[in-house]
Amino acid sequence: MIIVMKPKAPKESLEHIVNVIRTSGLDAHLSEGKEVTIIGVVGDKSLLKLSNLEIAPDVDKIVPITESYKLSNRKFHPDPTSIQVGSASIGPDSLTVMAGPCAIESEEQLILIAKSVKKAGATFLRGGAYKPRTSPYSFQGLEEEGLRYMKKAKEETGLATVCEVISAESLDAAVKYVDMVQIGARNMQNFQLLRQVGQSGIPVLLKRGLSSTIDEWLNAAEYIIAEGNSNVVLCERGIRTYETATRNTLDISAVPVLKSKTHLPVIVDPSHASGVRAYVPPLAKCAVAAGADGLMIEVHNNPACALSDGPQSLTFAQFDELTRELKAYAALSGRSF
Ligand code: PEP
Ligand code: MN
Repeated sequence: MIIVMKPKAPKESLEHIVNVIRTSGLDAHLSEGKEVTIIGVVGDKSLLKLSNLEIAPDVDKIVPITESYKLSNRKFHPDPTSIQVGSASIGPDSLTVMAGPCAIESEEQLILIAKSVKKAGATFLRGGAYKPRTSPYSFQGLEEEGLRYMKKAKEETGLATVCEVISAESLDAAVKYVDMVQIGARNMQNFQLLRQVGQSGIPVLLKRGLSSTIDEWLNAAEYIIAEGNSNVVLCERGIRTYETATRNTLDISAVPVLKSKTHLPVIVDPSHASGVRAYVPPLAKCAVAAGADGLMIEVHNNPACALSDGPQSLTFAQFDELTRELKAYAALSGRSF
């Protein structure tokens, strides 16, 4: 439920409402817009005497929220959220590009890639230290050693860093080295891990599950925010369909749908969505045109020899060309890049 206050309602009226909510044993969340303040109520509504709120001064209307996700709901927070991560930000005014290898392979490789993607306009370095691979015999990542290289790459380039975590142990390690943790598609509904990243307070990039609906995804975000961590960014990375020409099917409609349902920033990963290098640039442009706040793109110094996801990784030259082309798309979308 949300309580919409009358335009320019005085502070005392807001405090009164918050007080009524909290003394009834529920939680109140304020979203202060330019004109109107909205107070969101979380908890068991049966504890609340609605008539106390209806007659309170400066209340315009009380609107029930039927969706199970509340804190991530756009009705709770009508303005889009901007999230600061290290030296970078993700939000409605800019196009944020995260780029880097699928897996961190060595310190030299990571720093080489970091310098190149930074020059091309990326503000985030991505790289996997804990790789959730389909086959147990595939390269599983350098683990904590990889995280150390991420920290080094950040020190050398100033890029913000993001790394996937797959367990409580990897989360404990990652918070010491990187600016943001990624929950990958395979763990989107690992509810215990979602709670743990929520408790850690570190910004979270939450990828869409392989076969998850948008509502399931927003409920996953709710698990994190309900623990007090509202620094959540959603990443559409393709879903499973009957189509086999691409690794997954990029659900481009997820971008405008999410924009209407949530205030959280939304980025798109055309690399895992397509699995094919040649399809990455057109899908990236499409994502920006659809309203995405950013992109996550795999880039490798030598894709033919990559230990993971080489076929979908762009070369330095291809990434350079793409970021040059993206400038026009960003400008058309009213975003700086
Ligand atoms: C990744 O970003 O390296 C990754 C494994 O992605 P996803 O979870 O989307 O498959
Ligand atoms: Mn990958």
